[in-house]
Amino acid sequence: MRNSPSLNYRKARLIARELTVRIIECYQPDKSAETISGKYALNYRDTLVFIKAFNALKQKFPDKSESWFLRAAIRVVVGVIKIGEYKWKVPGIRELGDVYNWYLVRYDERSKTYICDCFSHYGGIYRRRKVCTHVAAVMVRRKMDSLLIEFIKE
Ligand SMILES: [Zn+2]
Repeated sequence: MRNSPSLNYRKARLIARELTVRIIECYQPDKSAETISGKYALNYRDTLVFIKAFNALKQKFPDKSESWFLRAAIRVVVGVIKIGEYKWKVPGIRELGDVYNWYLVRYDERSKTYICDCFSHYGGIYRRRKVCTHVAAVMVRRKMDSLLIEFIKE
């Protein structure tokens, strides 16, 4: 899940689907992390952190559709790469309608907003108002990073 941009789409989708369904339908982070990490040979702690971070996303955007969450989850599973303090590279996924290989997401501290490359591409005006799933994936990634730091401190 971490730094694995080569993970193939079908497998990523399978894992992401199981994770989102479990988070949305019945939130039991420890139990779900145990089942999913065992089933897909993933690191337990990373899986648990993903579930907790993703649940935070769900709390923040309670009105988003299940498919929006699924797309965001697929992106996290495929891998988000941090390239600067407030910069991330999100791999483009053709199956999700992306036309570019990479999307750059930046966080603007002053306005506390995220800016994604896709805003300036075709359909950008529409997407800007909707919070794209590239940005959602970065939000989850950031939350995962901060949860991992807490884990290490413990
Ligand atoms: Zn985007």
